[in-house]
Amino acid sequence: MILDTIDNLILYAKYHLDLSNELDEIYTRNVLLNELHLNHPNELFNYKDEDKMKNLVVPDTLIDELNDYLVNTLHLTNKEAELKYTKIMGILTKSPSEVNQTFKGIYQRFGDKEALDYLYNLSISNYYFQKTKVDQNIVWSTDYPSKNIEISINLSKPEKNNKDIAKLLVKPDPSQIKYPKCLLCLENLGFAGNSNHPARENIRVIPLNLNGEKWYLQYSPYGYFYKHCIVFSKKHSNMVINEDTFKKLSDFVDMFPSFFIGSNADLPIVGGSILNHEHYQGGEHLLPVMKAKAKKEYNVTVFNDVKLYKLDWYNTCLLVVSKNKNHLINVATTILNAWRNYDDYVNDIISHSGEIMHNTITPSIRKEGDTYYLYLILRNNRCNEEYPDGIFHAHPEYHHIKKEGIGIIEAMGLFILPARLVRQENEIIDVLKNKFNDEKIIKKYPDLMDFLGTINELKVDFDEKSIHLRINKYIEKVCQNILINTAVFKDNENGNVGLDKFIGGLKL
Ligand SMILES: [Zn+2]
Repeated sequence: MILDTIDNLILYAKYHLDLSNELDEIYTRNVLLNELHLNHPNELFNYKDEDKMKNLVVPDTLIDELNDYLVNTLHLTNKEAELKYTKIMGILTKSPSEVNQTFKGIYQRFGDKEALDYLYNLSISNYYFQKTKVDQNIVWSTDYPSKNIEISINLSKPEKNNKDIAKLLVKPDPSQIKYPKCLLCLENLGFAGNSNHPARENIRVIPLNLNGEKWYLQYSPYGYFYKHCIVFSKKHSNMVINEDTFKKLSDFVDMFPSFFIGSNADLPIVGGSILNHEHYQGGEHLLPVMKAKAKKEYNVTVFNDVKLYKLDWYNTCLLVVSKNKNHLINVATTILNAWRNYDDYVNDIISHSGEIMHNTITPSIRKEGDTYYLYLILRNNRCNEEYPDGIFHAHPEYHHIKKEGIGIIEAMGLFILPARLVRQENEIIDVLKNKFNDEKIIKKYPDLMDFLGTINELKVDFDEKSIHLRINKYIEKVCQNILINTAVFKDNENGNVGLDKFIGGLKL
């Protein structure tokens, strides 16, 4: 059986991973035999499953067969088996430099979209991007007349909390060697993995030059949206938002106009989950804020080829539009630098607590033809007594749905929610069907404690047929409110006057 699997892996690699050379085929088969503690292959390579392997879209069945052999015959633990089959998929994949060569060739001959497709398909074929798992995520979009948001209940990603993320910024103990330093370091390329670091023999990255610096592109293993990529610096250094960020982001869309790209903010709470390695996120998907309409136009007098708008969006998002990259970056930098030190006590915006900085921006950019669209979401991460987790963060009454930092993807309107919600929805339905009282609910389902208010709302006119839809609508409303929580200038009199005053004070 395992010998058939080896034949099939070789066939699969011929059709999907470019294993076309006869010498490489013999060599690779022997490497696989050794990895799997086998002395010889099938006597006759009859390749009976050739058509099946040719048409295999994802390698899941092969992985299952490998896993079965590793666990049941070689008696590996599940984790060890995972490390081993990842290694095997790495062996079947062309080397990083060969993949890069092919990517470059396709880029030059056909363009950015085709080259990005090549890397994307390769990442699916070699099981780096586990598409079957990602496709199981529960994804939907609201059906509001405007300002729609997208929601994805992510079944594979663990939930993190802001305090642990902030800890990553603290200098590590120098006596402990951490290699690779983090999940985004280039040194993950080919890394075998261990109990707390994933195996990365099958990852492939593309080198880029962004504003004269060495950066790399890879796909995200989580795939929050279509062709979700991560672009990371060669240096393991903290996230930063400054003029160079705008230069690097716009360099990226010059190279890959079919993708948008954006950066998480550089501060905890309003930033993403990895603050200690400078990186961006992008993809072919248009995030909801990119479909928002302009609500107001501001005058830009310094350049007549730059337009500046406030968007009709839940949080405070400015849009800078221009065909002129330098002018665009100039305006964005003026806004960023002024915002870093801007206080507006009426709107509770305080830029510093002593030396500690609170104001930052979540930027993202896309290109249509030769026009750049640069989105700047104004952020502030200050906490006070009333809101110890953040004034402009999801307020406590919404933490049962989302308590992690509201990073770039959520701020732009795509909510990644924790897998536990699927279980909790079933528990809520059970509670409603059986008319449990609060005491019984907490006894049977302790973590529904924070849902008691929600359950009381859903009790009214409970109907089993419509309950799923009602729970979804409830989640949508919470996501909307969280986005409003993150608005530094709320959509009210004080907020609107405040934003106009901020923009009016800029020398634009
Ligand atoms: Zn790193």
